[in-house]
Amino acid sequence: MSVHQIIKMGHPTLRLKAKAFTKKEIITKETKKLIKDMFQTMTKVGGIGLAAPQINVSKQLAIIELPSESKRYPEAPASETYILFNPKVKILDKKFQGFWEGCLSVPGLRGYVERPRKIEVSYLDEKARPQKIIVEDFLATVFQHELDHLFGVLYVDKIKSTKLFAYEDEVDHLLSSKKGKLLD
Ligand SMILES: [Zn+2]
Repeated sequence: MSVHQIIKMGHPTLRLKAKAFTKKEIITKETKKLIKDMFQTMTKVGGIGLAAPQINVSKQLAIIELPSESKRYPEAPASETYILFNPKVKILDKKFQGFWEGCLSVPGLRGYVERPRKIEVSYLDEKARPQKIIVEDFLATVFQHELDHLFGVLYVDKIKSTKLFAYEDEVDHLLSSKKGKLLD
């Protein structure tokens, strides 16, 4: 296993549509190693999700795991571990919800983004079996944020106003006075 370097906004790989996996590719040793490396990389930096393009691998794989005590997102509830290949998102509830999102590829900054609050995600798991899950609330935002990475989209594209884009410590001050939630 190895920890990879996370590429940052401006790197062209983050703007590509990543390549889908074949079922055969998913079950190879190389892919197993890629998954392990991604978990190790995510844990090292304290993230709650990571997409393969963020370590400069332009392929449709993302992992998500909300630990019970996230330093970056202390209010976030713990989640299962998700390993998602070739995901497709269907919006189930058009009602939007907003969170202050962060991204390991956009360090030090946060932006307030509104997204649909309930979605269905179809994907292949690490054994190349088709799966379908419904996620809502904060987890729905985490999924949409991570899966956007597989299609060349960053959360900064979805901030409605530059006034809702700020440095982490300033957002922390803002949130300690008002009610709000964070994400990355
Ligand atoms: Zn991100």
